[in-house]
Amino acid sequence: MPRSSITVQQADRLIRRCRYPFPSQRVPLDTAAGRILHETVRANRPFPPYDRVMMDGIAVSFAAWQRGQRVFKVEGVQQPGRPPQRRRRIAGCFEVMTGAVLPGGCDCVVPVEELTIANGQASIKETAKPVPRQYIHPAGSDARRGEVMLRPGRVLDGPAIAVAASLGKRSLRVQRLVRVHILSTGDELLAVTALRRVRPHEVYRSNPHALAASLNLQGRCEVTHSHATDDPRALGRALRLALRSVDLLLLTGGVSRGRYDHVPDLLQQARVNQVFHRVRQRPGGPLWFGQAPRGQPVFGLPGNPVSCLVCLQRYVIPLLDPGFTPLTVRLASRMARQSRTLFQAVRLCENQATAVILNTSGDLVRLAGSDGFVELPAGNGYLRRGSNVRYWSWK
Ligand code: AMP
Ligand code: MG
Repeated sequence: MPRSSITVQQADRLIRRCRYPFPSQRVPLDTAAGRILHETVRANRPFPPYDRVMMDGIAVSFAAWQRGQRVFKVEGVQQPGRPPQRRRRIAGCFEVMTGAVLPGGCDCVVPVEELTIANGQASIKETAKPVPRQYIHPAGSDARRGEVMLRPGRVLDGPAIAVAASLGKRSLRVQRLVRVHILSTGDELLAVTALRRVRPHEVYRSNPHALAASLNLQGRCEVTHSHATDDPRALGRALRLALRSVDLLLLTGGVSRGRYDHVPDLLQQARVNQVFHRVRQRPGGPLWFGQAPRGQPVFGLPGNPVSCLVCLQRYVIPLLDPGFTPLTVRLASRMARQSRTLFQAVRLCENQATAVILNTSGDLVRLAGSDGFVELPAGNGYLRRGSNVRYWSWK
């Protein structure tokens, strides 16, 4: 490995520094799940908007109960969705339901379990011990009007969509589906859709499908794919064409030191500025990264299918999700370290990672039996059983 290679931490930092502004779009609320929010969502009214009753029961004046009043005249029913009524007598009460506005003059809700109601009168049981403002969700206690409820950059999950819907939002500004193009290279690779059989000296190309699958699991990309042979002219043409319309370009193969590994030179010729080439890691040492003239990130992923997927998960997917943080898991048994960072395929069970040993660095078959990989920092000796390490899932 040449001196020019950098560490995994340096690669992380350099990738994070490349701030390509992924474009925004407005989408209907019900299609926003999983997308990254690109606006600040503020409360347009207090939350909750009124003193909200939290139990079925009666609403009373606490002072009346404190003075010894146990039997209250039911002055009416305060139904959810109706404007608030007002208690008239100190010994009066309203029947209330969860979600109703607290009637005026009341400051305590006594639940049905602690009552008997008959002949227009509610009696509070002697065992009941109400306290002031119990079972009342106070207006503005969750958020004041104007308060920030959702910040840009967050992934829109169920709770976030609930907040947006409760503000009456029909649409949200989110990160547009990132236009990713995968340009695979290699003369030995046949398309799965080819109309002829694969020859003994050929293999099917799996990388574009694997990368697209992993990206599509994130649900934030629009992935297209093309393939070029190792002929520099054809590859150069394909590269320039792809760069015209994409937000993110992923090349696979052709970034090592072989005679047909033209990708780094051709990228430079296409005015893609190299940020780094080669990282002290295994697998994925030949990784190339740069920025196209409009600032779009460009990755030259190694062709080896295991390296290719590891680099995608480790570097590309976090770039697409600013809030991404890998999980920390424990090693189920000790693992040897190496002079460079090692990405070790593992199975995960109850937060314990067990190594999945691959036959060779390109063993996709065993890789498919793993849940993800752990990152073992460079160093001597072993990481002990129970050590905490960062974990990257395939999902
Ligand atoms: P390269 O980085 O081009 O030298 O490729 C390294 C290894 O990965 C070679 O064995 C290639 O045949 C293999 N490879 C490259 N691209 C793909 C692909 N799209 N699908 C499957 N194997 C690939
Ligand atoms: Mg190749």
